[in-house]
Amino acid sequence: MLLTVKDLNVHYGVIHAIKDINLEVEEGQIVALIGANGAGKTSTLHAISSLLTSKTGEIVFDGQDISKMPAHKIVATHLVQVPEGRRIFAQLSVEDNLEMGAFLRNDNKIEEDMQHVYELFPRLSERRKQLAGTLSGGEQQMLAMARALMNKPKLLLLDEPSMGLSPILVNEIFDIIKTINKEEGVTVLLVEQNATKALSIADKAYVLETGKITVSGNAKEVANNPRVKEAYLG
Ligand code: ATP
Repeated sequence: MLLTVKDLNVHYGVIHAIKDINLEVEEGQIVALIGANGAGKTSTLHAISSLLTSKTGEIVFDGQDISKMPAHKIVATHLVQVPEGRRIFAQLSVEDNLEMGAFLRNDNKIEEDMQHVYELFPRLSERRKQLAGTLSGGEQQMLAMARALMNKPKLLLLDEPSMGLSPILVNEIFDIIKTINKEEGVTVLLVEQNATKALSIADKAYVLETGKITVSGNAKEVANNPRVKEAYLG
């Protein structure tokens, strides 16, 4: 297993947002975490990447216990989160944003990797000098993913990559996620409200309801689960 989360709990004051969650992400897979607004999807990702420290439980990534590790050290283990809302550097160019993604690297392949990332994201290549804040929503999502790739992730945590995008762009973003996984060999933990799309590209899925995992398994099985169909797949 690349990532194992055991008995994770998150409290915000009196609110018990995550209740004894267990999940596993196998190397090479796309694992989807789906659920309604407020189910606890973002809290789960933030707990894994230590953006959130009010948590208990065990989180093991790539053989290392990262439960108590600070966020900046976790990034150095190549577990990289692309946060909800993208959080790109609006005042910097596309190119400078990508360079920031390679901030922790000290090898001599950065330039080469940047060219490779531009091949994966031709729209970004055409806009290298453009200020990131002036990109469209879809382009900003691409930039956030491209920037994460510059850190050579083993595991990419994607938080609602389709949020606010038109259906065509949603398809484009999901195609890129598949490419990143299948061709670049990056394992993905994908948080999505768009359950139909998420389940269509995932190998495995977990359904989160008010802080608890209620359904889990092979993505096809989860997609055929009558309760999931009724509640999330319309
Ligand atoms: P969405 O899809 O709307 O982003 P989500 O599934 O990602 O939702 P979370 O953002 O993880 O859900 O929120 C889970 C629960 O924890 C919600 O009830 C939310 O109100 C609560 N919560 C999240 N962050 C905080 C916070 N900083 N302080 C207090 N409560 C919080």
